[in-house]
Amino acid sequence: MADEHLHPHRGWALIRDDGKFTPDEVEHLQKCSQCHNWLTKFTALARESGFRITFKIPAGPPPKKNGGAGSTNQGSEVA
Ligand SMILES: [Zn+2]
Repeated sequence: MADEHLHPHRGWALIRDDGKFTPDEVEHLQKCSQCHNWLTKFTALARESGFRITFKIPAGPPPKKNGGAGSTNQGSEVA
């Protein structure tokens, strides 16, 4: 399984060493909003601190439409 979360160490190494994502990492970032979120923040902070970031973070997963107007009733346990 290539579904492991990215390690912060890895994110830092990418920034420090001007690295590139592996295909597996790109794939993971495209579907894991958790990793996508922290890496985006991490990279933004690093950039503000003067690091030259040359890699591009792939587009993350589409935001979950959670909640809404309450019209989606998922209480299927009561038949
Ligand atoms: Zn992840």
